[in-house]
Amino acid sequence: MRKKILLFLLLCCSVTQLLAWELVKDGLAQADIVIPQNPRSVEKYAAEELAYIIEKASGCRLAIVDSRQANKDRKKILLGRAAKLELADLPLCGFRILSSADSLALAGRDGAGEVEKLRTAAGTLFAVYEWAERELGVRWLWPDELGELIPTKETIESGSYDLSWEPPLQFAYVRRYDWRWNRRMLRADTSKYIRFAGCPSQGHAFINWYKVYGPQHPEYFEMDSQGRRLNDRYASMCVSNPAFHQQIIDNWRDSGYTKLAVNAKENDAYGRCQCDQCKAWDGGDWRWPSMLYASQRNVGERYAKFYKRLWEMAAEINPEVQVGAYAYMNYVYAPRNTKLNKNIVVGFVDDLPFPRTEKYQQLVEDEIKAWGDSGASLYMRPNFMLSSYAMPELFYHQYAQQFKLAYNNGMLGLDIDGPNLSWATLGPNLYVMNRLVVDPQRPVSELLQEYCSGFGAGAEAMRRYFDYWEKYCMDNAEHFNQVHETKSERKWFIFGNFYTGIAHLLFPDKVFEPALKFLEEAELKAKGEPDAAQRVAFIRQGYEHARLCAQSSAIFANQNNDNLVRQRTLQVVKDFREQIPALAADLKRFTRGGVLEAHAWKLLDMSLENSTALPETWKLKIAGSTEGRELGYFQADFNDTDWKPISTWSFLEDQDVLEYNFAWYRTKVELPETQAGQKVILRLGAVDESGWFWVNGKEAGSLVYDSKVNPNSWKEPQEYDVTELVKFGQDNQITALVENKSGKGGLWRPSFIRYERIGSGNVMAVDFPAPRAYASKEIENGEMALKIIGRPDLGKENSWLKSIVALPVEEPGGKTFRLKGDIVAENLGKGEFWLVLRHVSAAGKTLTYSGIIIKEDCDWNQFQSDLKIRREAKSIAVFAVGVNMPEGSNARVKNVTVEEMR
Ligand SMILES: [Zn+2]
Repeated sequence: MRKKILLFLLLCCSVTQLLAWELVKDGLAQADIVIPQNPRSVEKYAAEELAYIIEKASGCRLAIVDSRQANKDRKKILLGRAAKLELADLPLCGFRILSSADSLALAGRDGAGEVEKLRTAAGTLFAVYEWAERELGVRWLWPDELGELIPTKETIESGSYDLSWEPPLQFAYVRRYDWRWNRRMLRADTSKYIRFAGCPSQGHAFINWYKVYGPQHPEYFEMDSQGRRLNDRYASMCVSNPAFHQQIIDNWRDSGYTKLAVNAKENDAYGRCQCDQCKAWDGGDWRWPSMLYASQRNVGERYAKFYKRLWEMAAEINPEVQVGAYAYMNYVYAPRNTKLNKNIVVGFVDDLPFPRTEKYQQLVEDEIKAWGDSGASLYMRPNFMLSSYAMPELFYHQYAQQFKLAYNNGMLGLDIDGPNLSWATLGPNLYVMNRLVVDPQRPVSELLQEYCSGFGAGAEAMRRYFDYWEKYCMDNAEHFNQVHETKSERKWFIFGNFYTGIAHLLFPDKVFEPALKFLEEAELKAKGEPDAAQRVAFIRQGYEHARLCAQSSAIFANQNNDNLVRQRTLQVVKDFREQIPALAADLKRFTRGGVLEAHAWKLLDMSLENSTALPETWKLKIAGSTEGRELGYFQADFNDTDWKPISTWSFLEDQDVLEYNFAWYRTKVELPETQAGQKVILRLGAVDESGWFWVNGKEAGSLVYDSKVNPNSWKEPQEYDVTELVKFGQDNQITALVENKSGKGGLWRPSFIRYERIGSGNVMAVDFPAPRAYASKEIENGEMALKIIGRPDLGKENSWLKSIVALPVEEPGGKTFRLKGDIVAENLGKGEFWLVLRHVSAAGKTLTYSGIIIKEDCDWNQFQSDLKIRREAKSIAVFAVGVNMPEGSNARVKNVTVEEMR
């Protein structure tokens, strides 16, 4: 067991009574906050925090004075160096709280840097928080004002203290916390964290090595099972290779980081070198499977030998050296034989997510204990807080169990990747995680009670609400694992990226109903307390949002729902999100700009303009290529009624079609008369791997997979011009024959018939004038280009550098025009270059601009856009416009044409 960290030197009762005095009495100030002359950033901020908390509790603001101005006759709260306490025995971030008859001292080991920088020790600030928690009952539930729990108190006492505190962890870091929240919750700095040591920018040490050493030293890199050395950023390293070790040490010495640490953190890659020497380094014991990896001989032994070897080599140069290492997902296992030492610092990155089955929890615990036994220093660097999506996935007991075990096995610190900051659903997980950093021995039940105290009279009901979800998750841990392993795109929880597609399987709607009664009870009980009631309402918004997301996930997963239903569902989700508080759900994290949901819900593929969607469900027959052709499977009138219905939005294997080389698909689609007269494109969402296609019995095209031509064709849309094969106003029959040779296969993303307007042949070439100092004409590869240079001085705050050409078109309103041009843009910065049409009213006013807007540098790209002109427009003009283009930037445009479309 670890040494006891909290040292309380409590005085006996009779004495303590004498030392307590009033800082605020009946709302009036009785003391000043005293900071040293020339206060450090930490001391100044500690004073502000203290004044803020006291004012919020009592309504009374205490004056902050420096020690020169302090009034001798007034009582004082002495902060930082103003307290003149002896702190040398304490580590950085440690503090003392000491009360006397006329002062209260709050002072700790501080750094001289800015308080915003997490490498600055801030013991004095942490003393303020400790005092506020003890004396006033202050708690922080989530990082906005509603989440601040500062009980009202008209009279505030100093309390009686002689207490010192040491941070239980050497560092604590939660990657997405802002610095204020980090300070309030974690009471730690990051100065001892060696994540970046020896490697200026990356946690993983060898990310760029394939570029630098790949050509000359292929032997530094992972060998695959066929004996080939890999050479890209996803390659692991050949960690048993002595020349590789020497290179690391040479680089470390050359870089001048000799006093810090050698970074040995293997790349973020799935592989493990298969060379004989590396395999010979593996342990004889077999280790459990993790994530994508099969059970295997203990690869952790290999990595332990690697770390130890590096340490031995580096220690000859500097005996104080530390080796920064990972026990990453694919080599998380601890060595059972190789003995390490405290200067080898291992970040434990287990990928076994919560909720865990007992078996999985045991496996993780075994590895943590074994790492502890290896003699290495250990810290936790988990990815599991990234998951959970919008769901009330609570697992605070299991998390605490792992954390405490790691702590008792010598854990140095904590670095949480992510996490998912959905405070209204995952709040209790985050609260427990935060509070354990400050006091690893606190029982979870106490922490939960503390958290729930924020809900006033509704506390008990809220406690039952959270317990309901935790129990649901724990009782269904097996089911959660099974769903992720079989339904999730990546067969695992990784970062929760694919959670959006399966949320309804983990949290079916029926499990939400029973939770509601707890919330309703809490609402009723907390009614009379505005803050508490508002906090219950906050949690309820998380609940409603989670339920809506799970319902939506079910709607999207049901292949009988057409695109319209899905689009409407998405709109409901979007509208709901407009009204919930920003902290309730971590939209940024789990939608990642909308991309994750759009991907899981197949929305990216659905927003195709000017198209007719093909149905999701087609008919399927497993039969050979020749056989199918002979039987006429591609014929328009072939009778496929006995073929099996199949989704074309997911792989065949995911629909239990396993044994096949060739698969025949058939469907029908009616093309509306209104689209007649345009170019018609068959757009297959993705064909894995090769395919042959027919429309109305006639060959429409084919794709033969060739990794040398395009290794990604299996996941990209394939388009074929079928204008001559289709009929409008009636059904068109489409047949696809798909061949799959490796991995999963089939048609697996939404497909469409897409229309392109056909030009009228009336192509108008645009010759821009060069009217001002910022515009000129230049010859570019034999063609005349207009050049606009950024001149922000011309337009004051907004520069609008334009060149205009009116087009000789009568009555353009309602018509569509194709605008084309070749553009190069350099050093655009935050500026933009527009090539647009101006829609002009009868009165000569601009109705709108539409067209091509360039926001990033480009190099003679061809741009094209079909633009429908506003009905009320009476004329149009082409504009080349530089908007806020910075000095030193330029954009050139040539070959600009406008064509009226039919
Ligand atoms: Zn190797």
